[in-house]
Amino acid sequence: MSRFWSAVVHGLTPYVPGEQPKIADLIKLNTNENPYPPSPKAMAAMAAAVNEALRLYPDPNADALKGAIAGFHGLKAAQVFVGNGSDEVLAFVFQGLLKHERPILFPDITYSFYPVYCGLYGVAFTKVPLDPAFRIRVADYAQPNGGVILPNPNAPTGCLLPLADIETLLRANAGSVVVVDEAYIDFGGESAAALVDRYPNLLVVQTLSKSRSLAGMRVGYALGHPELIEGLERIKNSFNSYPLDRVAQAGATAAMEDREYFDRTRGAVIASRERLAAQLATLGFEVLPSAANFVFARHPGHDAAQLAAALRERKIIVRHFKSARIEQFLRITIGTDEQCGALVTALRDILKG
Ligand code: PMP
Repeated sequence: MSRFWSAVVHGLTPYVPGEQPKIADLIKLNTNENPYPPSPKAMAAMAAAVNEALRLYPDPNADALKGAIAGFHGLKAAQVFVGNGSDEVLAFVFQGLLKHERPILFPDITYSFYPVYCGLYGVAFTKVPLDPAFRIRVADYAQPNGGVILPNPNAPTGCLLPLADIETLLRANAGSVVVVDEAYIDFGGESAAALVDRYPNLLVVQTLSKSRSLAGMRVGYALGHPELIEGLERIKNSFNSYPLDRVAQAGATAAMEDREYFDRTRGAVIASRERLAAQLATLGFEVLPSAANFVFARHPGHDAAQLAAALRERKIIVRHFKSARIEQFLRITIGTDEQCGALVTALRDILKG
C-alpha cells in the first residue's frame, strides 16, 4: 500500500473487465463482443480518417456524430452526449448526475461497474433485489432515492423490462434522474429513446460496442433532456475536451448511418441466440429469457465453474461470475453459428463425461 495514496484509492476495489486472452484459435464468448465485423462503410470512413487529417485535433463537439445519432433516434443534437465508450459516459453520470444526499438505487444483480463508480465518486447506493425469476420489479423502486440506474436488458441476466415498466419507473421518480443503460437493447428490446422528449428525468445510455461491432473504438452516448446533456458536457470539458479521436468519430458516424448493415447483423445475432438457447435447453440447461447478445444459463447437474474450466480446456471461453445467487450460471456471448455449434458440441461432450 502506497503512503502517497489518498483514502479514495485505498478504499477502491477496481472493476475487473472480462479477460482478453492472447491465445490463438480461441472461441471467445466471454465479453459480449459482436462476432461480425463493423459496417464496411464504417471501415472505409475510418481508413479515410487515418489518411486525411490526424495532424489536426478532432472536433471537440463531435457535431457530425451527434447529428447521426440524433437522426437515428429522431431527436435533436442538443439531446445527445458522446463519450469514450458508454463506461466513460456512465462515469460522468455518476460523477455529476447521481450525486445526492440520498442513496441511488440499482438492482442487486446488475452491471458490476455501478458500485465501482459509486466508490470512486462517493455516491451512496441501495441494491434492490430481483424477483425469484431474476426480473426487475419496478414497484420496488418507488422509495426515496438520489437517482435510479438499471441496464435494460439487465446484465448479466439478459432479462428485458418492457417500455411500459420504464414509464412507470419514470413517473414514480419524477424528482430523480432515471438512467436506462441500453448497452444490449438492439438485440430484442424497445429503446426508451422514444420517451426522451416526454420525460426530462430520463437519461438513456447506449454504446457502439455491441450492436455496431465497434468495441475497440470506444464510443458510447447518452440521450436526454438538453439540461442533463449540458451537465454531462460540463463534466467532460473539465476532464478532457477531446474524448473521441478523429478515427472514432468518423467510424461511429458512418456506423450510425448504415442502418441496413446494422439490421442485418443484429438480426443474425438474434437468430443465433434463439437457436443456441433452444440447443442449451435440449442439453438440460435452464436458460433465462434473453433480449441481449448473450444467454445466461445454468445446468442443474453440473457446477458452473467446472463447466467453464472444461470449456476453456477446449479453447472456448465463457464468463462465470462468483457473485451470490448467480454463481451457478454461465454467461455465453452469441458468436457466429459455427462458434455456437462448437460450444454445443463441447458441452455435449463435457456433460457426457
Ligand atoms: N453497460 C453495460 C450493461 C455493459 O455490459 C457494458 C459492457 N461491459 C457497458 C455498459 C460498457 O460498454 P462500453 O464501454 O464498451 O460502451
